[in-house]
Amino acid sequence: MTLMPSDKALVPFVSVNNMMRLIHQIGLEECLARMTEQVERDFRRWPAFDKVPRVASHSEIGVIELMPTSDGLRYAFKYVNGHPVNTKSGLQTVTAFGLLADVATGYPLLLTEMTLLTALRTAATSAVATRALMPAGAEVHALIGNGAQSEFQALAQRSVNGLGRVRLFDTDAGAIARCARNLRAAGLEVTECGSAEAAVEGAHVITTCTADKQYATILTDNMVGAGIHINAIGGDCPGKTELHRDILLRSDIFVEFPEQTRIEGEIQQLGDDHPVTELWQVLEGAAPGRRDARQITLFDGVGFATEDFSALCWLLEAIEGRDCHEMLDIIADPDEPRDLYGMLMRAGAGES
Ligand code: NAD
Repeated sequence: MTLMPSDKALVPFVSVNNMMRLIHQIGLEECLARMTEQVERDFRRWPAFDKVPRVASHSEIGVIELMPTSDGLRYAFKYVNGHPVNTKSGLQTVTAFGLLADVATGYPLLLTEMTLLTALRTAATSAVATRALMPAGAEVHALIGNGAQSEFQALAQRSVNGLGRVRLFDTDAGAIARCARNLRAAGLEVTECGSAEAAVEGAHVITTCTADKQYATILTDNMVGAGIHINAIGGDCPGKTELHRDILLRSDIFVEFPEQTRIEGEIQQLGDDHPVTELWQVLEGAAPGRRDARQITLFDGVGFATEDFSALCWLLEAIEGRDCHEMLDIIADPDEPRDLYGMLMRAGAGES
């Protein structure tokens, strides 16, 4: 008789502390670069995945979402929230954790924090879309919304797409200052701007990454010149957008999963029949991306479950041979599989 779980039922768990150790061991920009390749590889096998819009539970001030997917071999889900008012009370807007499981047995393969992992995968996804769609010779990145996601966005764009010059704007001057300090320390050329208009001046790529649960207008039509690529990633909920509708009408729009983006993305401002292109098709060469130097391309990124799947698979491989996880006893493991009751009773005997 054993009261201890056997190794086969223990599940690797990556805590926030261990995630930070892992990222430092590998190097943040190396993690972002590897994650970018993993996200793109999985986009390119899009038909292999089960896809449903995420399951969202809305309240007046935020949302809690479950994001499941499977490629038939592995299953993943993420629990994630979005509460823009949280930062006022010292809490984060977005936190997450998630799980990867083996489809053949249904047993978990990995349980992990996903707040940091989400920042990495969201930055990697922007980098994938930007690589496919940005104008030739792009160097300058305008980043509007300088919160938790922002440094990761800027660093992924530098390491993957060579955007070493970044122009920052946020309605909170303290957020600009923090982001600028961090990015200068990482070697980026940073310009702190007093308005969104100033930030987009001379930019080839614009990323909007703000948090406000309303139809916001971070960019107006006059601010977006010909040839720009935009990543709009902060508008990711019904009633929460960042771009003026006129920008959408002048842009070629690229999305992850149209069924989810029409509910949550910038395109909720358009009719259900407005044409959009699925990013995976561009990556696979099945649909055109940027066709000319004057075209405005818009990646209406809301975050999709396959990106979390990619992040979890990357992590499972990354922890191999390192000391960056613990083993958790979260799966019952009776000696005889059907004797769950017997396992419980034997444990009781040990307690008395
Ligand atoms: P955060 O709260 O840490 O940062 C948001 C920043 O936006 C804050 O600094 C705030 O001052 C600024 N801001 C708000 N309104 C603004 C405005 N009008 N102009 C300029 N700046 C403004 O949030 P975060 O974790 O960085 O997330 C940013 C957004 O990205 C959130 O809306 C979040 O839901 C979204 N998000 C999307 C994805 C995705 O996959 N698409 C993933 C993660 C987060």
